[in-house]
Amino acid sequence: MSGAHRPTAGSLDDLTDLPRPLREAVADDFAFSSIVASHTLEADGGLTAKAVHELRDGQRIESVLMRYPGRNAGSGRTTVCISSQAGCAVACPFCATGQAGFGRQLTPGEIVDQVLHWHRAPWLALGADWRPGGGRSHYNIVFMGMGEPLNNADRVFAAVRLLNDPARLGIGARHITVSTSGVVPGIDRMIEELPQVNLAISLHAATDELRNELVPINRKWPVAEVVAAGRRFAARTRRRVSLEYVLIDGVNDDADQAAGLAELASGWLSHVNLIPLNPTPGSRWSGTSAAGVRSFAAMIERGGVPVTVRDTRGREIEAACGQLHAQLAGRPLPAEIPLVTA
Ligand code: SAH
Ligand code: SF4
Repeated sequence: MSGAHRPTAGSLDDLTDLPRPLREAVADDFAFSSIVASHTLEADGGLTAKAVHELRDGQRIESVLMRYPGRNAGSGRTTVCISSQAGCAVACPFCATGQAGFGRQLTPGEIVDQVLHWHRAPWLALGADWRPGGGRSHYNIVFMGMGEPLNNADRVFAAVRLLNDPARLGIGARHITVSTSGVVPGIDRMIEELPQVNLAISLHAATDELRNELVPINRKWPVAEVVAAGRRFAARTRRRVSLEYVLIDGVNDDADQAAGLAELASGWLSHVNLIPLNPTPGSRWSGTSAAGVRSFAAMIERGGVPVTVRDTRGREIEAACGQLHAQLAGRPLPAEIPLVTA
């Protein structure tokens, strides 16, 4: 049906090839989106945009659009970061979502509707490098918004299959990344059920003592078990696993942690991605300095492990996990930016 190939449509009324009486007849029984309202903010000159979405029961979730222009037309990248749960039960102390606690699981529709939001809004229409139906190689989806995707694995996997579906958005599994705090049985399910989806593991510490504090789920699945699951994933799928490491000044950025991380990451198909902490409001912690990040990266590299440093997009719109949501909690959402249907 036409709607399947027209993700830019913003409401039933945009489906003008359906007769008006039919549109009116289905309007009472058919919700066009599970998102009832969105508040969108831009940063980085429009290259980054973040939305807080309100769902039908009043729960709020977040998604982020990041555009990286290329030097030549069509060579840029677009990444959409989406939520898998309203809130999160893992309770990492540096994460705004973790501090807010768990709300509920998202349905597959609520997960996919976050992606569709960015196809309807002006963002993708305004000279983006990816357009529905066009070349899709530079378009990525990452489960790095609110929630622990592998604590909602059935619905997240269903959403991935919907995003994959050639009759819908047709986004290749290799362009989708699931980021996990280390839910080992969920990683094993990914190996069996979604072997082409990328895996990122949020390590953040090389010892159990420190990781028990920073990523409390470590008490259930400690460092050695999480890394072993990453190694199984890499061995079975032949795909490089990303080890995410948020650098917190004076907490996990010393030479001992660097040496431990290099040892955990070497000898298999892994890659370390360093992220300076984006401090949450009222946080007692701050991000490692640029010089500190460089020397930490150099120590990992000396261990023969590939390293990248993630740019911290959208600081001024609180784009880190759960932060904008925290700022707006308990207040009505500001007005939506008008939709443009391209
Ligand atoms: N729950 C999953 C996915 C969502 S969080 C996970 O933890 O992997 C996505 C990434 O954002 C994780 O690597 C997480 O540690 C990181 N993150 C959370 N809060 C952050 C902050 N304040 N600054 C920088 N990165 C943060
Ligand atoms: Fe949950 Fe990930 Fe935030 Fe930890 S970092 S509280 S796992 S969303």
